[in-house]
Amino acid sequence: MRLSRYLLPTLKENPAEAQIASHRLMLRAGLIRQEAAGIYSWLPAGLRTLRKIEAIVREEMNRAGALELLMPTLQLADLWRESGRYDAYGPEMLRIRDRHERELLYGPTNEDMVTAIFRANVKSYRALPMNLYHVQWKFRDEQRPRFGVMRGREFLMKDAYSFDVDEAAARRSYQRMFVAYLRTFARMGIRAIPMRAETGPIGGDLSHEFLVLAQTGESAVYCDKAVLDLPIPGAGVDYDGDLDPIVRQWTAPYAATEDVHDFERFEREVPAERRLQTRGIEVGQVFYFGTKYSAPMKALVTGADGGDKPIHGGSYGIGVSRLLGAIIEAGHDEAGIVWPDAVAPFNVGIVNLDPGDAQIDELCAGVHGALEAMGLDALHDDTDERPGVKFARMDLLGLPWQLIVGRRGLSQGTVELKRRATGERLTLAPYDAVAHIG
Ligand code: ATP
Ligand code: MG
Ligand code: MG
Ligand code: MG
Repeated sequence: MRLSRYLLPTLKENPAEAQIASHRLMLRAGLIRQEAAGIYSWLPAGLRTLRKIEAIVREEMNRAGALELLMPTLQLADLWRESGRYDAYGPEMLRIRDRHERELLYGPTNEDMVTAIFRANVKSYRALPMNLYHVQWKFRDEQRPRFGVMRGREFLMKDAYSFDVDEAAARRSYQRMFVAYLRTFARMGIRAIPMRAETGPIGGDLSHEFLVLAQTGESAVYCDKAVLDLPIPGAGVDYDGDLDPIVRQWTAPYAATEDVHDFERFEREVPAERRLQTRGIEVGQVFYFGTKYSAPMKALVTGADGGDKPIHGGSYGIGVSRLLGAIIEAGHDEAGIVWPDAVAPFNVGIVNLDPGDAQIDELCAGVHGALEAMGLDALHDDTDERPGVKFARMDLLGLPWQLIVGRRGLSQGTVELKRRATGERLTLAPYDAVAHIG
């Protein structure tokens, strides 16, 4: 991609409305544009990262055996009356009327709808366990939308729903999602800690929130530092096997959000030097809620004994759009964003110091092609701005690698390769630099 033909509206000044680093940097780097309170357009570079995050989530859900479908954003109010929570949900729900005076709502979550889909199509225990998920925009009319995409009103969520014949099977489904979440967040270059959590309006009796530790997080959290060093399950993890040891290992050290924090237990179980009291950003949550929806909505399956029983359900959310904010909170410095490789909008920024010089332009185009042939995305700054402006913009955008190409270097046969995260610089022959990145 050539920057001269791209839409990257970077800002030099800090936008006054942004209170935290990730919000400031997303606006300054030209990733998003606010359209209304808590409602954003995703500009091209922001959308690239959103899609990369989404792709990782999807791969790990599929690996864990979940089936992707896509439910609509608009739902009938009657469906929510059936499950009994239309009135209970309150002002966070955006309620809409169509021209026929039918009551609709913009879905804040999908338990009710997915239960109706399941009920209409699955009758036998033989199809279970089943896990259905989608990645879809949600709307919650948050009282205080803030911190940019972190607490939006319209936001992108991955939500999965499991269906099982009994509680023991449902707990295994819960464990599959728990393990998939450990892998998902680690692949994005962040550490999200599973913590015991309250089940909230969704109900049920077993839940963990996954939190990225950050001072700007909205939840106070308490944990044993031992949880920070636990190993992430590998790609070969057997989702049909016994996941209990992994879940037990991850839930053994004390880790809880303020809502369920037990101060005495914390002091009793965790030695003083390992007590960590900090703040965190909720990037995902897993729930087991039993028959909360299946009983009122009569989502029954015929069991091995021939009787009809309500299925045992769970739901599993990931805040896909919130993750951009969380990843930036965890990775930035004075100069700007420091993207992890896996989710950066582009892997490499090519900084052309002498645009218009035919030899330099040709070399930039050549390394660009070579990078793309290796499956790497590159953004070529071919604008005719000053070098200082280009360097500052590349640092702000936070691409993992910068390949700096200019007449002076090339007279020695070299280019400069800079690693954004460490500031480390290498002077290499152009195609050695390309090989170094791959
Ligand atoms: P919060 O406690 O932050 O309000 P929640 O517990 O209400 O979140 P869930 O119902 O658990 O959210 O939804 C699943 C995930 O969706 C959350 O873990 C979070 O990552 C994301 N999410 C929830 N609300 C928002 C929002 N307003 N903006 C962006 N992401 C959100
Ligand atoms: Mg909420
Ligand atoms: Mg919450
Ligand atoms: Mg939650």
